[in-house]
Amino acid sequence: MTIERIEIRTLVGKLDRPFGWSQRWTDIRGVTTVQVWDSDGIFGWGESGADPQTLAALQQLAPQLIGTQAGHVRATWQRLYETFYQSHGFATGNVTALSAIDIALWDLAGKQAGKPAWELLGGRMRDAIPVYATGLYYTENDYPDALFAEASGYIEQGFSGMKMKVGGKTVPEDVKRVLGLRKHLGDGPHLMYDANEAYDSATALRFAHSTTDADISWFEEPCPSYDDAANARVREQSPIPISGCESLKTRHEFAPRLANRIYDIVQPDIAVAGGISEMQVIGQMANAYGVKFHPHFWGTGISFAASLHLVSTLPFTPPKQVPEPYVNEPVLEFDQTPHPVRENITPGFEVVDSRVAVPDGPGLGIEVDEAAVGRFTVGEAIVIE
Ligand SMILES: [Mg+2]
Repeated sequence: MTIERIEIRTLVGKLDRPFGWSQRWTDIRGVTTVQVWDSDGIFGWGESGADPQTLAALQQLAPQLIGTQAGHVRATWQRLYETFYQSHGFATGNVTALSAIDIALWDLAGKQAGKPAWELLGGRMRDAIPVYATGLYYTENDYPDALFAEASGYIEQGFSGMKMKVGGKTVPEDVKRVLGLRKHLGDGPHLMYDANEAYDSATALRFAHSTTDADISWFEEPCPSYDDAANARVREQSPIPISGCESLKTRHEFAPRLANRIYDIVQPDIAVAGGISEMQVIGQMANAYGVKFHPHFWGTGISFAASLHLVSTLPFTPPKQVPEPYVNEPVLEFDQTPHPVRENITPGFEVVDSRVAVPDGPGLGIEVDEAAVGRFTVGEAIVIE
């Protein structure tokens, strides 16, 4: 079956209450969706961020899909990649656009074959994926009561771990929040913090040493992701494992960070790094270098489902007979912050024992609510056929 039609949409939802992290505050959440149809009228969904670069790149790439074989996903990935390899290919929305297309093509291929994406990817190693709650952003007057109540809610929902923000206040204030939250949670739940690149290496090390008593599972993006030397210094001297790379793209940006062991943990995002196809390559590379792979997620159920399928196919790092999340088994981020688009266009995913089941239906195995997609669409859908 050949590809016959593509629809591209920008979806935006307004938040009732803004929230913040070290770099900015937001009062909206958005996504760019791609819907790809074959000549039999079967379609697949993909997504990436709601930014103008992704939208522009999608309009460049999508026409090249028309008339091509829908099921040849990896060949299509490589062919499209080669069209933008020069001319600042990494600096624009090309790879995020390719990520959205790739996710849609795996969804479509699975629906055509009547098989889940994980089966087309070579089969799965596990049928439920360990997850942790991402939330605990900054909100107005949140400390301590609102922050502690939010954290308690994640425990009640069945999460064994959660991640909070740091870097948005002064170092002493953020240290107090981390130590206070650990005291509130008690021993047991995993707690991570994420600076979103807020620190230089000396400050990051000071922060890590000030919070060693809080039993932190990882320190995310301590320093700017362009500064490998700063992140490497933190990794070498920090008592807490260092993670990062949520905005990096393709195997080529991951290769030097893996080879030089800049991070203990890499966190590529399936809607950013190159889609399901490229994430499987990056995941296997991380395994080869002994670097843990705990993917980032910030989208709707489309990229969350894609991540579940992908992670189900990856091996333990390091090899060990008994699966143990955070130790040798990948742990997937499960964003719990308000996102009106995510909450309305895709189904919720039940958390049981801090795991989410890998969907078994054809393709990504989820239903997208097209009426809700219409309600959140800004302007008209862009149709390519
Ligand atoms: Mg992060």
